[in-house]
Amino acid sequence: MRPGKMRGGIRFSHPLDGLSSPFEDLPTPSVVTVALQQDRSGVCALRVKKNDVVLAGQIIGESPRPNGASIHAPISGVVTELIKAFQDFHGRMVPAVVIESDGAANPCEIPADTDPLAAVQQAGVVCFDHKTDPLAAKLEEARSRKVGTLIVNALDGEPLLSSRARLLLEQAEAIAAGIDALKKILDLGRVILTVDANAAEAIAAATRAFSGAVQILPLRNRYPQAVDYLLVQRALNVEIPYSLGVRITDIGALLVDVEAMAAVGRGQPVVERFISVATGKGHVKNLRVAIGTPIRAVLEHCRITPEPGGKILAGGPMTGTALSGLDQPVTKEFAGVFVQGRSEVVKLEEAVCIKCGRCVEVCPMRLMPFLISGFSEKGRLAEAAQHDLFACIECGCCTYLCPVRIPMVQFIQFAKGQLMAQRKGV
Ligand code: SF4
Ligand code: SF4
Repeated sequence: MRPGKMRGGIRFSHPLDGLSSPFEDLPTPSVVTVALQQDRSGVCALRVKKNDVVLAGQIIGESPRPNGASIHAPISGVVTELIKAFQDFHGRMVPAVVIESDGAANPCEIPADTDPLAAVQQAGVVCFDHKTDPLAAKLEEARSRKVGTLIVNALDGEPLLSSRARLLLEQAEAIAAGIDALKKILDLGRVILTVDANAAEAIAAATRAFSGAVQILPLRNRYPQAVDYLLVQRALNVEIPYSLGVRITDIGALLVDVEAMAAVGRGQPVVERFISVATGKGHVKNLRVAIGTPIRAVLEHCRITPEPGGKILAGGPMTGTALSGLDQPVTKEFAGVFVQGRSEVVKLEEAVCIKCGRCVEVCPMRLMPFLISGFSEKGRLAEAAQHDLFACIECGCCTYLCPVRIPMVQFIQFAKGQLMAQRKGV
């Protein structure tokens, strides 16, 4: 099958250096801090009390939405603290549960006869992408819209992250089981796997596990092609008029990443993340980490000592969010950890646009970044919105290539935040 073309974007030279690095299990931490909001469905209702004894996989926070993702205890032990307002890495103030490990791995299973959609909901599976939607909610929507095409994505979202490709290599059978489970929920006529064309071993593992039932679509690396709309356009060779509000399900497709599919296939509550850890000098490790583990423990395991003046990002080098401290715990929303040294932190300063046009050429959403960012910077929010401010996916390509380093993404994010606040009447 022939993929559609992608306009703009950047081809990085060593995007998959980490593929050869097997997942290492981070030792179970003695204490975890589990935030009660880890996706877009809102804050979960607390289901434990202080001093309760919990099993690994037991629900400790129940989603406010019927098809939302609940939150489970990542380890077995005792609830030692309930934090009312914990500042997560997005800056949101959310409740959190602190659990001290009992040193044993006492698991709590989901009954085998559970309805497939309910099993996904009870397992707390989310789409581990930049939007972090609960998977059960997406499946419910896909079922109501009679979606017939499933796209399973094994492309990593950013350069230097390789956990999806590695997961495909190590857990192709669990991913195949996850696809089978989704076939019981949706009437799927077609399943496509998108994977980096350079991930030969992962492609071979998928070919063995899927035995012809899945169309494998290798794609040459081009950041940010793993973003949902761009990827579906490439995989199906169609145009999706994003700015008109057309949804992926409107064209009969559903996009799910391999980590979510593997979680469905394993049939266990989501209590861990598969992440890559990288530094400005290159890829370091792929790790399996219990949710709630402090970043400090992740860095210690990788023997990384952060530099004063450097940055630790939740995510990758292009769109990662700077962490305020090393006590921040891993959540379902972490795609990886990127550590920048002091000399690698790019200083974005006030500068004047020289009208070189590079940002326009590289923008995968066919926007005029210099114009949108210029309006945003000057507070001319209505004009920024008229130029499709909200179609920007904040990929950072424009800022990355701008020769005078104008912080376009920051201006755009600021303008979006202002307009959203105005719409909510804040
Ligand atoms: S950050 Fe937005 S404006 Fe800049 S290249 Fe990406 S999509 Fe285009
Ligand atoms: S890349 Fe920078 S200098 Fe060039 S047009 Fe865009 S904003 Fe202006």
